[in-house]
Amino acid sequence: MSKSECNHARRSMLKKSITLAAGVGATAATGTTLATPCANKGDQAFDHVYDVIVVGSGFAGMSAAVQAAEEGQSVLVVDKMPVFGGNSTINGGAMAIAGSATQKEKGISDSVELMVQDMLESGRGMNDVEMLKLVCQDTASSAIWLEGFGVEWKPFVQHFGGHSVPRILQAKQSSGAGIIRPLIKAAEAKGVEMKKQTKLESFITDDSGRVIGFNALVNHRYERPSSGEAKRFGARKGVIMATGGFGQDIAFRQIHQPKMTDELTSTNHPGANADALKQMMLLGANPVHLDQIQLGPWTSPDEKGFGTASQFNTIGTFPKGIVVDPRSGQRYFNELADRRERATKIMQNRDEKGQPVYPIGFTNAEGASRAQTLEWGLKYDVIKKAENLDDLASLYDMPAEALKQQVADWNKYVRQGKDEQFGRPLASAIELNLGPWYAVRMWPKVHYCMGGVRVNAKSEVLALLTDQHIEGLYAAGEATGGIHGASRLGGCAIAEGVVTGRNAARNIANKNSVTLKQA
Ligand SMILES: Cc1cc2nc3c(=O)[nH]c(=O)nc-3n(C[C@H](O)[C@H](O)[C@H](O)COP(=O)(O)OP(=O)(O)OC[C@H]3O[C@@H](n4cnc5c(N)ncnc54)[C@H](O)[C@@H]3O)c2cc1C
Repeated sequence: MSKSECNHARRSMLKKSITLAAGVGATAATGTTLATPCANKGDQAFDHVYDVIVVGSGFAGMSAAVQAAEEGQSVLVVDKMPVFGGNSTINGGAMAIAGSATQKEKGISDSVELMVQDMLESGRGMNDVEMLKLVCQDTASSAIWLEGFGVEWKPFVQHFGGHSVPRILQAKQSSGAGIIRPLIKAAEAKGVEMKKQTKLESFITDDSGRVIGFNALVNHRYERPSSGEAKRFGARKGVIMATGGFGQDIAFRQIHQPKMTDELTSTNHPGANADALKQMMLLGANPVHLDQIQLGPWTSPDEKGFGTASQFNTIGTFPKGIVVDPRSGQRYFNELADRRERATKIMQNRDEKGQPVYPIGFTNAEGASRAQTLEWGLKYDVIKKAENLDDLASLYDMPAEALKQQVADWNKYVRQGKDEQFGRPLASAIELNLGPWYAVRMWPKVHYCMGGVRVNAKSEVLALLTDQHIEGLYAAGEATGGIHGASRLGGCAIAEGVVTGRNAARNIANKNSVTLKQA
């Protein structure tokens, strides 16, 4: 394609994308501009050339960058945002690991096969089994790899919904930053270059169609889609797309899930849109499972984003408390079911006018003892405290006697080791005898995109038309689709990001180089 043809195509795609956004009647979180991929005619020079360029600086991108540097490659990481880390740095730091040393210490028997089975069950069998096995196989070794860069875990294992055994290790800081910061430090120590506010705009291919770089906007400000100066980046071995999901892209997510309107807020960082995914699609990548968008069941309508309730619920309420309908004071779902089941149950619970009935999740002081966000939640009045169950009932206008009966029933289930109401696994459960009580209102938020581009076991992006890999194009982390099927289990995104990022890096390192001219 000549330069003028490229520009023409770019303009017509731009028109099309604007029409698309207008057609769904919603506004995307960020820009809708699209540029078509361009062939690098006439051996045009690049402003910057590296062996490997990683786009995105979350778990997938930083793991890919560090691994690629360990494989002896010259590596650049670019990210469009003013801070590195994307969703990964604001994440809860909880990683699912099959066969960790802490599990062994605590006598928890787990295996790669069991983790695969749990993820398949949650994914309703829609998972890409090859990639799923690849991820589960390497969680334990990747956790040790992370520890080598200074990542520290809490000294206990948590039981998240849908996992049949406790297998979650959580970064000491209760945040993905506890993993991202050591990875960035390690990357810099290994000579990886990092550029923020640098947005991939469109791919550059050679005559054979191989990806050899991309056009970018540097000094870019994400809230102004076309801002920044145009530069050409060349990658001798290829580009790894670690560009995350599109949870904040209301227009794009509504194309696939029309009910996911702007009434549903998101836990994601503001740059989590589909721009990079669209570029891969323009190149011919096969997008899979784009309609599989996860709602997090542990968030609260009383604060923005992930907030303080999410960690309180995942570490406290769900494994060590119960969740009730405030109208009846009764439980109405298994608090440790997978996310999809819990979110669906919560969203379906509405009053006669169709308005949400926010469930009340609560536990006692013992159950909340590991929730680092408790203090903040109380401070901002998201988490409420009650000295006894009568007070708890009156805080949320619940029938006190029915609530007390539900708690007594629950305690019986714990004692007998069998939840007669919903068959919840009780390995982490406690009897709820003593107050004080801590409670939150819950309502799901858009959290994770199971869909993305289809990749093979080398993390190469596969083309829609041929199912063959697109030369020079790799993808890792949430940008890929299929691993989790219909519903991702908690802690499995860190596992996916780290393992697939490293996998992409190992494979790209083995690829032949192309010679590129630097300006
Ligand atoms: C609040 C929250 C809590 C979570 N907690 C957990 C948890 O405890 N455990 C767990 O397993 N999962 C959790 N998740 C999910 C998990 O954090 C994400 O799935 C994971 O961080 C995705 O990692 P990633 O590297 O694929 O993408 P991200 O971390 O999102 O990184 C993608 C990066 O790519 C950049 N980018 C995108 N497009 C471009 C472009 N065109 N040019 C340049 N840069 C670009 C973005 O700016 C971003 O920085 C949580 C998610 C959220 C939002």
